[in-house]
Amino acid sequence: MPIPASTQTPLLAIVGRPNVGKSTLFNRLIGSRRAIVGDEPGITRDRLYGETTWEGRALRVVDTGGIIPDEKEHIPKEIFRQARVALDEAAAIIMVVDARTELAAPDMELARLLRRLSKPLLLAVNKVDSRQQEPEAENFRRLGITEVYPVSAEHGTGAAELLDAVLKLIPAPAQEAEEAIEPTESETSETTIPADEQEEKAPARETKVAIIGHPNVGKSTLLNALTGTARAIVSPIAGTTRDAVDETVEKAGARYRFIDTAGIRRKGKTHLMAEKLSVVMARKHLEAADVALLVLDAVEGVNSLDATIGGYAHESGRSVVIVVNKWDLVGPTRKDGARPADRAVYEQQVRRALKFLDYAPIVFVSASTGKHLDRIFSELELVAAERRKRISTAQMNRFLETVDFDRASVPHRQKVKVFYMTQASVAPPTFVLFTDKDVKLHFSYERFVGNQIRRAFGFIGTPIRIKNRARSKVELGPRKRKRRG
Ligand code: GDP
Ligand code: GDP
Repeated sequence: MPIPASTQTPLLAIVGRPNVGKSTLFNRLIGSRRAIVGDEPGITRDRLYGETTWEGRALRVVDTGGIIPDEKEHIPKEIFRQARVALDEAAAIIMVVDARTELAAPDMELARLLRRLSKPLLLAVNKVDSRQQEPEAENFRRLGITEVYPVSAEHGTGAAELLDAVLKLIPAPAQEAEEAIEPTESETSETTIPADEQEEKAPARETKVAIIGHPNVGKSTLLNALTGTARAIVSPIAGTTRDAVDETVEKAGARYRFIDTAGIRRKGKTHLMAEKLSVVMARKHLEAADVALLVLDAVEGVNSLDATIGGYAHESGRSVVIVVNKWDLVGPTRKDGARPADRAVYEQQVRRALKFLDYAPIVFVSASTGKHLDRIFSELELVAAERRKRISTAQMNRFLETVDFDRASVPHRQKVKVFYMTQASVAPPTFVLFTDKDVKLHFSYERFVGNQIRRAFGFIGTPIRIKNRARSKVELGPRKRKRRG
């Protein structure tokens, strides 16, 4: 007896946070307007299945947004749990994100949950309504999904490429599969495990974290709170003095090693000594770290010692997360009767005082009440991934086409002509510009290029280094002649 067509037809599941455009994409793919499209998040919809054919192959499509009934749909775990039935059945999954919003921790979490399913997974970066916006989709590569497609569900652009990619990734129906005994070259490469899934199975990389800041900002309180909220393993390192102790914490499958926790708790006997010690410790801890938590006291704001310590963090090439601690004394929960500080305004002030750390995310927490400490872990996870991110030369070339280098305001003599650019290394991400002149790049040129790279690829939390290399004429000369002859 033939299997009913409906269960044999591969299912494509559309997943994502509310309002990213899942139902618009669903409608686009099935070519009708059956789903309800609305701006209100949390709108109740029925489970929505539709059918479509593409390149002669039938597909069923499910909009999992339709199966999440309440406000819990904002929580990635809940999105995942409620969509689970559809995901289990799915032959391929499309995660949808909104290109107009910043990539946030919940997206990272949802992507991680989806990657674990080890099913063909594609990322549709939606609301890319014009070609100029396409490079923005690259920002979302941080989610660790290799198949990234900019689309505009509303206008339909990119939908064809997306469906082509879906069909490539899901196995052909039974009859066709039997005929194709020898896998073709393209099929072989597609059945190998994608790189991101291999990473998922490998033991988690450890991120080394330094907690730095001037005396009394709350470093030891924060350390206690961070190691208290997660499973902490105290591990003395062999061969060092007894009081040099690291503490390792596991959170959401990632490991964080807080460096020299005894040092973080050590206090100077006098105020001046404590201040000096905090700078010495910061430099020492930065050396051993990947990421620094630069802790500030919300009551005091940024002082010159903070700027000095932050400056060391910046120069060290480590990633930085700015932690505004004691927010309980300044924000909405303040009890001294004064008007609560506005977070956005406060952030602006911090940014102004620590301009050179413009790439560092800021979190507002209270170490003593435990409020928002989870945000520290989300940011740590994000910046740790960002500093190890690699942009392929192909991506780089596509990006270069979008950059107008003449816009950099640089003295004429120091202007260079850019031929191409490659990423030479990670942690911190270092780029080499191949240009016509062997000159030290003007600092404003360096900053211009750095900003452009950031706009296209993110690199949140990490400094970017840029080097210039003159494309050697000597090297090119002989090769040209050789080709001619
Ligand atoms: P869902 O909650 O993920 O199912 O999102 P919806 O499909 O209901 O879309 C949320 C909002 O985004 C609606 O106002 C849509 O009109 C809008 N939207 C969806 N796709 C696009 C797009 O490609 N471009 C733009 N500009 N807006 C879109
Ligand atoms: P460190 O010198 O940077 O290690 O700072 P400590 O962790 O010793 O904290 C200095 C003081 O600030 C202590 O009295 C803490 O109780 C207090 N403190 C730390 N974090 C917070 C916070 O989030 N809110 C409030 N209200 N007090 C805090």
